[in-house]
Amino acid sequence: MAAKLDCVTCGACCLNPDENRAEGYLWYLEVRDTKLLDKPLLVKKHVVYDPDGVPHLRLDPAGRCVALLGKIGQRVRCTIYELRPKGCRMLEAGEPRCLQARRERGIDK
Ligand code: SF4
Ligand code: SF4
Repeated sequence: MAAKLDCVTCGACCLNPDENRAEGYLWYLEVRDTKLLDKPLLVKKHVVYDPDGVPHLRLDPAGRCVALLGKIGQRVRCTIYELRPKGCRMLEAGEPRCLQARRERGIDK
């Protein structure tokens, strides 16, 4: 199944997972291992700090990472793809978290 999954027509994992929403997290993946933090203008737009001062990806009111463009399940693009943090890079299409994200966003049943 993994070979058939196309991230460009998905984007489900670029939204706050239901578990995080239920726990009240208003930010997404930790921002580390990326040069994004060296770019003040991009930091201002894409990064938010949790109460412990740890940088995370900023979410819009709908729970989408603000770096995501396009429509979920149709056509999407990450505007900071080359600078995306390690958490984004580690998630592989077809792994359990991917499949769960797709189900949560209604892409798969
Ligand atoms: S949920 Fe899976 S298929 Fe969708 S963008 Fe993320 S890794 Fe790709
Ligand atoms: S930085 Fe890019 S890949 Fe990572 S969650 Fe945001 S839109 Fe998705």
